[in-house]
Amino acid sequence: MLTDNHGRPINYLRLAVTDRCNLRCFYCMPHEGIEFLPKNHLLSYEEMIRLVSILAKMGISKVRITGGEPFVRKDLMAFLWKLSEIPGIEKINLTTNGVLTAPYVPELKRMGISAINLSLDSLDRKRFLEMTRRDELPNVMKTYEAILEHNIPLKINSVMMAGKNEEDIFSLIELARNQAVDVRFIEEMPFNGEGEKPEYFLSYQKILDKIKSQYPGISKIQDEAFSTSYNYNIPGFKGNIGIIAAYSRTFCGTCNRMRITPIGDLKTCLYADASLNLRDLLRNNADDELISNKILNAFQHRAKDGFEAENQRSSTIHESMTTIGG
Ligand code: SAM
Ligand code: SF4
Repeated sequence: MLTDNHGRPINYLRLAVTDRCNLRCFYCMPHEGIEFLPKNHLLSYEEMIRLVSILAKMGISKVRITGGEPFVRKDLMAFLWKLSEIPGIEKINLTTNGVLTAPYVPELKRMGISAINLSLDSLDRKRFLEMTRRDELPNVMKTYEAILEHNIPLKINSVMMAGKNEEDIFSLIELARNQAVDVRFIEEMPFNGEGEKPEYFLSYQKILDKIKSQYPGISKIQDEAFSTSYNYNIPGFKGNIGIIAAYSRTFCGTCNRMRITPIGDLKTCLYADASLNLRDLLRNNADDELISNKILNAFQHRAKDGFEAENQRSSTIHESMTTIGG
């Protein structure tokens, strides 16, 4: 079992399969002038399968596919099928913006996908357009309906921002009333590709206070092990409500995750510099043992939390979430 220098087990990989996206969420990417990575800089699917096979032998049992938008990469489904066949990988989860996802939902169900996180910041078409700079809410809602229809565990992720989509918080919460959908609100982080601090930051405490103002009966429930969200239930609701203190970084003490970016950078923390580039190792014919040893070594130098990781960075945060994998 892969363990870090603070004794934390690492069994969860977040794998970003592309830096490209069909939305332009303003807190994630600039409107224009984005330079996508040259295609040959991205890990190929074969390289990803090899890395996950090595990691599975080291104790990784859960993989989340993210990006960029995973479904803009060609042949994603064929890749997911191969991933699902790797011995030791027990759970494959997916994070998607839902624009292109609906037609693939039946196949994802057949594959046995464990859960889907659907990013959705507003149920209002005009505000959705303002936030994502694309008029795609109807397609996202088709994905939402298809996931429910196929009984795949579903979490809605909303970045909640002061003066931007605060008024959407209650309509989003209502999604959890009659369906077993968990709705989670995320603090804005500075990974917007423009090197700017979160401009519309709303702390988890403020988000909670706002929810309590409308739902005074809301109560805390037991969080699952390694959960990044504080979880709550509103009496009579089928789904739960979660708040993710992504910028306040309250959950680092139990962090069990690693990230591999689209170019194969290994990150031991979202806020850290890359520890090493796995693509270069693969392309220089490194054998499995060397790759495992490099990964083991990276986790012996892991920061204790996201604040320490940020302090140790070689430059201030300037990257977009799409180049890391949210
Ligand atoms: N494109 C897919 C999607 O949106 O679900 C997957 C990648 S996206 C980078 C993953 C998650 O990161 C999304 O839920 C998104 O809202 C979140 N995210 C992106 N930029 C963020 C930021 N600056 N602060 C907080 N969350 C952010
Ligand atoms: Fe694309 Fe997801 Fe970033 Fe929005 S949050 S721009 S959907 S990668």
